[in-house]
Amino acid sequence: MHDKTVVELIAALRQGDISSEELTRGCLDRAMALDEGLNCFITVTEQQALDAARAADARIRAGEAGPLTGIPFAHKDIFCTRDVRTSCGSHMLDNFIAPYDATVTQKLAEAGAVMIGKTNMDEFAMGSSNETSYYGPVKNPWNTATVPGGSSGGSAAAVAARLVPVSTGTDTGGSIRQPAALCGITGLKPTYGRVSRYGMIAFASSLDQGGPFARSAEDAALLLGTMAGFDPRDSTSVDRPVDDYSATLGDSLEGLKIGLPKEFFGEGLDGRTGAAIEAALEEYKKLGATPVEISLPHAGYSVPVYYVVAPAECSSNLSRYDGVRFGHRAADVKDLEDMYKRSRGEGFGAEVKRRIMIGTYALSAGYYDAYYLKAQQVRRLIREDFLKAFSEVDVIMGPTAPGVAFGLGEKADDPVSMYLSDIYTIAVNLAGLPGMSIPAGFADDMPLGLQLIGNYFGEARLLNIAHRYQQATDWHRQVPPGFG
Ligand code: GLN
Repeated sequence: MHDKTVVELIAALRQGDISSEELTRGCLDRAMALDEGLNCFITVTEQQALDAARAADARIRAGEAGPLTGIPFAHKDIFCTRDVRTSCGSHMLDNFIAPYDATVTQKLAEAGAVMIGKTNMDEFAMGSSNETSYYGPVKNPWNTATVPGGSSGGSAAAVAARLVPVSTGTDTGGSIRQPAALCGITGLKPTYGRVSRYGMIAFASSLDQGGPFARSAEDAALLLGTMAGFDPRDSTSVDRPVDDYSATLGDSLEGLKIGLPKEFFGEGLDGRTGAAIEAALEEYKKLGATPVEISLPHAGYSVPVYYVVAPAECSSNLSRYDGVRFGHRAADVKDLEDMYKRSRGEGFGAEVKRRIMIGTYALSAGYYDAYYLKAQQVRRLIREDFLKAFSEVDVIMGPTAPGVAFGLGEKADDPVSMYLSDIYTIAVNLAGLPGMSIPAGFADDMPLGLQLIGNYFGEARLLNIAHRYQQATDWHRQVPPGFG
């Protein structure tokens, strides 16, 4: 059962070929047997999962099931879950049990989806390799000497290794798309405001957005349809009906205009990734699409802009972890100041501290205009480039990441080279657009991803474009050796 997609599992559950309890037991057993070598999970919620599965079985028997009822999944450990620890990959929140559910958590629970655990991630979602986690790195199931990408590395690796059929992630600068690419699965970062951020621990509030990981666009459509929607508890959530993402998956691509930004195909791109994108484009031409060269002239500034904006927002968001209101509190402190210093010093890891320092500096009175304000101005130009492009094309296509998964430890001491892992994904967050990564080939037996960028609230079209490609190819059906 572990290799079945959600669409296949729904049929099996409805026909009574398997119960949700059996399916959930299977996922739990597989996670317990295989996760030691991968480290995808921070917490496995065995008892809650089995209880939820039995409740789902009752709903299915009563004919009251929705699409995800009885389907096991895992949450990135950034979504608050009442009664289950939410660590955000940090020592700071190692002991944090949220008193409430995130909206996404609540929506999936109400849909009857069965959470089997919380997945490993870079600390506070800061990273591109899952190596900044307090709980140790996640290994890429395609080659356990390499990283799964980050920051949602545990969620991506768990889906790739067939521990769960789908999982949730968050993407601030690429953290859904880049690990999806490096693990050979499908990931979608929705339009900013499409999925509620309520109860999703904040990193950079103007960029953070939750979304699905799946093995196919078809499954991602089901998960996104459940996660998305207006939430009065999140002031940035957009009051707009959620499309039926499954209904338009099969639509024709005849006449589709695909924009290829010339800035995405220059220096720094692994030639084999470039070749895979060329091959994908040939498939799309067969499906009726036409490529159009476009330009995103300010895209080259997206990494520097992001590394001002994201640290600035993180320095503010993370000020709440002071050992009093939230988080780890140091023992045997001398006085209040000593408590703040030592609690934060002990609770946060090196990358988080680096970001807080950069952000505090960029926001300080003397530098605000030079850094933060300037970055916001350039951010506007990046957004305008996309708006102009979308007046000419329907979708933008390019690489998700510069190359395939790199070795564990390979970039750990070189933050700038790590930051460049997101060179193709970050502009999308700065503009608030939806983006997707789908498997599009292999280099050295490691998967690589194709990125699709849509116009605002164009998730249905993106899923349609991804689905048509997946009907014509089988990259997304490849299984990491040893996990079949
Ligand atoms: N890798 C980027 C960073 O380190 C993006 C992370 C994310 O999307 N959460 O900030």
